[in-house]
Parts: sequence; structure tokens; C-alpha cells
Amino acid sequence: MSVDRRSALKIIATGGAAAAATTALPAVASARKEAPPGAMGMLYDTTLCIGCKTCVVACKQANDLPQSVGHIADSQLYDAPLDLDADTKNVIKLYKDGQRESYMKSQCMHCIDPGCAAACMLHSLHKNETTGIVEYDPQYCVGCRYCQMACNFGVPKYEFNKLSAKIVKCEYCRHRQKDAAVQTAAGLTHYPLGQGPACCEVCPRGAVIYGTRDELIAIAKQRVAENPGRYIEDRAYGIEDAGGTQVVYLAHVPFAALGLPEVGPESTPNLANTVQQGIYTGFIAPVVLYGALAVVMFRNRGSRGKDAERRGEAGR
Ligand code: SF4
Ligand code: SF4
Ligand code: SF4
Repeated sequence: MSVDRRSALKIIATGGAAAAATTALPAVASARKEAPPGAMGMLYDTTLCIGCKTCVVACKQANDLPQSVGHIADSQLYDAPLDLDADTKNVIKLYKDGQRESYMKSQCMHCIDPGCAAACMLHSLHKNETTGIVEYDPQYCVGCRYCQMACNFGVPKYEFNKLSAKIVKCEYCRHRQKDAAVQTAAGLTHYPLGQGPACCEVCPRGAVIYGTRDELIAIAKQRVAENPGRYIEDRAYGIEDAGGTQVVYLAHVPFAALGLPEVGPESTPNLANTVQQGIYTGFIAPVVLYGALAVVMFRNRGSRGKDAERRGEAGR
């Protein structure tokens, strides 16, 4: 099996975390993880999206993120981010290939078996046991950015421009959800208006909708069945890919062209677990390594803060 540098980094990043749970197990693949029964998700359909970017603006408003300012010639463009970044949890991009073009919405995929959470030694990134949403608690984050290496989709971003930096990624607008979800007449599980994922609530085309993963997969399969030839590969991306994701995609151009990698059905943690079990069976080296890294990074973070204080004093 050839492993490129990026894949190797992902395996190293997630392998250490997996080792904390396994010390002397035989080198066999771990059982595939399943989404929780009530797992929430999104379905994005490229054939319905008109690229209006209302969802991008709504995401920034809902998450209190600053405007992204870009430039074309001498004009300033507001709220037109080109990619995910420390101020942008949701982005719409345009893919063009000769006659074909497609919009593409990117945000966290809320993986069933997320590499980011497996690589996060302090559980700062973790999966909600009920909704399956991959949540972030900055309180414990040491800024190691292993989560960035371990994500197949390039989602977690880091606030390099801040002293007290955090990881930034979509958390399904969980801070808006105050009441329990209800069942609508259309059969979708919905939060009261204003409490659901903002991007889905504002989409004028229903190009991105939310509900339980099971509901959304059923809708995706129905659209494919009712529209032969409309969707690439006649399937939705994310049902099996990367171990399964809670955000699934229907597209009319190849998934890979939209930045959805062909990574097969194994999740990164499962792959890393298999590899590291083969390498480290009977050893505790990764556990020790992670502990040592945590201490080093806590110490560095402390001295970064002190440096900043010193710089502040010097500037007075
Ligand atoms: S709001 Fe809907 S139609 Fe507009 S860009 Fe976002 S997903 Fe596409
Ligand atoms: S897409 Fe990346 S950041 Fe989001 S849950 Fe999956 S591994 Fe984590
Ligand atoms: S669910 Fe919320 S945070 Fe995630 S992309 Fe949509 S609006 Fe942004």
C-alpha cells in the first residue's frame, strides 16, 4: 500500500490517539462506527444551488463572525470568502470545467468517525452522543492543530492572528438550539424557526436542508431514483465515504472535482487504528508521546501568554 505524505501525517496524528485505547490487541480492523440513532445532518444538492451565498452571510451572522473582505480589480467585495478560514465556517465555491459548472457548499461534514476528534488528545473536539454533531470546546484546546492534519476535508481552521487562538469550524449552529426538535408535516425533524442551522433555514432554493441523517439519505435516494441520469454516479456522497458523514451531497459533476476526496469507506481513525496496531502492538510509546506533547504544548501556551503580557507592558 503506498501512503503519500499527507496520508502518512493523518495516520500518525490519529494513530497516537487510537493507541491510548489499544495496547496489546491483534492487528485487525476496528468495527465500523455507526451514527447515533437521532444523528442530525444536512443534504446539499448542487443541482438546486444558484450560488446566491445567502447561506454564507447567514452563517457569519449566526456565528458572530466578521465579514470577509476580498478584492477584484479596485473593488472591495464584502462577505465573499474564497475558502474556509478562521472567519468563515461555510463557503460557496464555483467549479468550472469547460461546459460544466457547479456550485459547491463546504463546511464540516460531521463525520461518523471523525479524524479530528480521534486526533484531539484532550477531547476538545468530540462527537455529541445524541446528535452526532462534532463539537468543539476551546477550554481544553492546546493549539496543537493535529485535528487539521487528521481531517480528510481540510475543515478545521486556526486563528493564527490571535494570541488566544482557537480552532474554527461549523458546529451545526448548536448554540442556537434551545428547544427540542419537532416533526414537520413534511416528515422532517426540525428545530423551531431560528434554532436550526442558519445556512439551511435561509436557503431560498432548498439546496441545503437539514434533518436526521436517515431522513436525508432517504430523500437523496428518492431524488436519485426519480431523476435518472441527473446525479453523478447515481448516489449521494457521504453515505459510505470516509466511514460515513452526516452531511451528504448530491452532485451533477464528479465529487472529487468539488473537493470531496475519494477515500473509500474506511474512516481515518479506523485506518490509523489498523496501521498502528500492526506497528505498536504491546507498546505504550504513543501514549507516552501524547502525554509529553500535551505538557510541552501547555507550557508553550503559558509562555506565549507571558510573552504577550511582556510585549503589552513594553508597548505602554
Ligand atoms: S443559500 Fe442555498 S442556493 Fe444560495 S448559495 Fe447557499 S446553498 Fe446555494
Ligand atoms: S469534516 Fe473534518 S472537522 Fe469535520 S468532523 Fe470530519 S474530520 Fe472533523
Ligand atoms: S450549520 Fe451553522 S455554522 Fe454550520 S455551516 Fe450552517 S450556518 Fe454555518
